[in-house]
Amino acid sequence: MGGAAKISIAALIGVLALAFAAGRIPAVQDRLFERALEKAFSPRAAALWKNDGLSVFFCGTGSPLPSAKRAQTCTAVFAGGKYFLIDAGTGSAENLQAAGIPGEALAAIFLTHLHSDHIGDIGEVDLASWVAGRAGPLPVFGPAGTGRIVNGLNEEYALDHEYRTAHHGKGVAEPRAAGLIAQTFNAAGNTLVYERDGLKVTAFPVKHDPATPAVGYRFDYAGRSVVISGDTAYSQSLIAAAQGADLLVHEAQANHMVARLREAAAEAGNARMAKIFSDIPSYHTSPEEAARAANEAGVDWLMLTHLTPAPDNAIARRIFMRGVSKIRKKHVRIAEDRTAIMLPAGGGFEFERY
Ligand SMILES: [Zn+2]
Ligand SMILES: [Zn+2]
Repeated sequence: MGGAAKISIAALIGVLALAFAAGRIPAVQDRLFERALEKAFSPRAAALWKNDGLSVFFCGTGSPLPSAKRAQTCTAVFAGGKYFLIDAGTGSAENLQAAGIPGEALAAIFLTHLHSDHIGDIGEVDLASWVAGRAGPLPVFGPAGTGRIVNGLNEEYALDHEYRTAHHGKGVAEPRAAGLIAQTFNAAGNTLVYERDGLKVTAFPVKHDPATPAVGYRFDYAGRSVVISGDTAYSQSLIAAAQGADLLVHEAQANHMVARLREAAAEAGNARMAKIFSDIPSYHTSPEEAARAANEAGVDWLMLTHLTPAPDNAIARRIFMRGVSKIRKKHVRIAEDRTAIMLPAGGGFEFERY
């Protein structure tokens, strides 16, 4: 037993030493670089946009609390060969690019509200999709205030647009297709905000005071449906809008962990963070409440996102999900960056990682 273990450890050390030595040979380095390039330019996530139903890609599952493993909030929904971003928090543009998702197929951004963790990468996503060959300016749908964000970003990126056109030419950076166009809607009640090629997107109000208006979105296409909660406390309007949906993507904040964060911040003498941790529980939804909302809406699958604090290892995930299994026994999962769910028109769910 002990002898076998010694031999296998010695063999492993030998393999690692060989691999380390091989990594110093230029020809081996070049071959590995070639393989990375092949992967970078292959349409490996094509199942997302070739699916005949809806697909969901998690481009950001984090929140304002920092995480090395999660971008801030972003969810991509694919329908009919195009895709739509619901929010574009900081880091989400990199996740989209790393997964090989084609920028030119981005049809619009839908904003749930205007907190910074939902808007930080709009400019980068817009730029990437422009130089990828998008046909015109990118529509940004959102509640009142969206126009101010769009105007600010268009001004912020105006010089960059000029440089890109001067450098790469109109064939790559066509000025008429640059920038964003605001599509502001009245968020008071359920509102059909987009209807084209069989896809319907309906906005519904949620509770996120004082960040108002705040909305969630329901996508219906090819007999499948996906609901995105946006940031909200436990919300009856969300439960009503999500009735019978296939998939509910709901924000989740583990308030039992946030309470400990508040105590730890206070004990460390950080009164400002303690105040913030005491303010935030009332305008988010706990994992248990999200499970209850999913049950009341009768949805098939519940995915938790906008995770506060980010549960980035197995122990943290167990603490985060405490009590959830008592409310919802199955079809509930913590979303991870660069994972995806396909909902084919014929039914069922397929989970992937890109
Ligand atoms: Zn928010
Ligand atoms: Zn947020």
